[in-house]
Amino acid sequence: TSFPHFGLEERLMKAIRKSEYTQPTPIQAQGVPIALSGRDIIGIAKTGSGKTAAFIWPMIVHIMDQKELQPDDGPIGLILAPTRELAQQIYIEAKRFGKVYGLHAACCFGGGSKWEQSKALQEGAEIVVATPGRMIDMIKMKATNLERVTFLVLDEADRMFDMGFEPQVRSICDHVRPDRQTLMFSATFKRRIERLARDVLTDPVKVIQ
Ligand code: AMP
Repeated sequence: TSFPHFGLEERLMKAIRKSEYTQPTPIQAQGVPIALSGRDIIGIAKTGSGKTAAFIWPMIVHIMDQKELQPDDGPIGLILAPTRELAQQIYIEAKRFGKVYGLHAACCFGGGSKWEQSKALQEGAEIVVATPGRMIDMIKMKATNLERVTFLVLDEADRMFDMGFEPQVRSICDHVRPDRQTLMFSATFKRRIERLARDVLTDPVKVIQ
């Protein structure tokens, strides 16, 4: 598979070429077409596999399709990640490719200023990257609502569980409409992750790095 096989718009392809990615990584080659088709995914992949782009590109396509259909405020794409560092890396990638279409992103993580993060949300971010605990705080503060979210990513789900975020992850999934598209990534596929997959994904395709 090469990038043109994805059938992405020229504007997005240009940004990919600018990143000097010459060919898709295996997780991208397998995952992107499935995600673009609207299916849920369980991706077994580690950091360094190129998994971030594998969900960011289809998310951007999804947002551009949904934007006009749902004129209200609030994010359309929501990504949960275990740590501040990972959330910020994803945020940078989301901004890099989202700006092609003038999309805005916000990043919310524990330890950062709640005021600044809630301001970023209220300014209207179509993409939100967050750690689970801080996302719950933002919902409680009414800094955002998840009514418009139709594309949900759980990144490094096993690490989120190791860090004790299972209740928060489940609670956030419960706040998002059930007819969403959900992508879940994990380096391992142990019983707890399998159970989460069964609870939050709909007829998922398993993709292995
Ligand atoms: P990730 O696994 O998403 O954290 O990505 C690891 C690194 O690979 C990041 O620095 C990306 O910018 C880079 N990357 C992602 N996709 C590709 C690709 N197709 N070719 C080369 N590098 C890539």
